[in-house]
Amino acid sequence: MRLLLCVALSIVAQPCGAWETTPHQKITSVALATLPKSVLDRFGAEAPALVEIYCTLPDRYVEMESFGFVRKGPGPRIAAEIRLYCVRPDGEPVHGPTGERDADLTSLVYLFERIVTSFSENRPEDAARYAGVLAHFVEDGLSPPHAVSMEQLLAMAPPGTPRGLNLHSIMERSVPEFTLGARIPRKAGDHLLSSAEAILEQCYAGAGQNRKDLPSMVKAACARDERTLDVYRLRAGRRAAEIFADALFTLSELGAAQR
Ligand SMILES: [Zn+2]
Repeated sequence: MRLLLCVALSIVAQPCGAWETTPHQKITSVALATLPKSVLDRFGAEAPALVEIYCTLPDRYVEMESFGFVRKGPGPRIAAEIRLYCVRPDGEPVHGPTGERDADLTSLVYLFERIVTSFSENRPEDAARYAGVLAHFVEDGLSPPHAVSMEQLLAMAPPGTPRGLNLHSIMERSVPEFTLGARIPRKAGDHLLSSAEAILEQCYAGAGQNRKDLPSMVKAACARDERTLDVYRLRAGRRAAEIFADALFTLSELGAAQR
């Protein structure tokens, strides 16, 4: 079912099929581990769910809304339950960067505003769900094969590559274990809009770095060279965790300033 679903998801128009659930959870967990207790406290008892469930909300939304597929285990049961977090008021989905700067900035500002508001109104349930969607957005933005279109990715495959080989999925199905060590989160800006712009630029820069190295990654994927792929997966996962941690740290600071 998962395989069929992945194939189905890979042909719908919006960004999806990026990191699988475990990499999303791993990157989100690593990011949260670097945040000061004062930031984590804003999520109250919801911090574990942010890692386990909420960082996958955009994928779950697509699965339920477009395919009627509901995951087993804890989490949302119907799309309407999480629409508020995954779809902007203008009807556009918030999932991962599309490369359209205005649209992406609108999505980030939407999430930033709601996270800050949820913090200031002491609504940890909402804050954690919006933060989960933010994690997903950043993580999908750093997912290596998302740096180019599916056609461009396939065009990089050397002659003789089996047609059925799912390069996209091979590259992003896992990320090695990692931490950010003693890294201290950095503030991305002094205002909501400038912070959203800075975080978006960081996502784009990470995608640009991935794009540069994609030919090598495609070669490694075709050769099933997991060791080489892991070097790139690790770099992408680490950068996504850093960007997400910085975004949350910034929003907590902005929220504190609003009090
Ligand atoms: Zn996704």
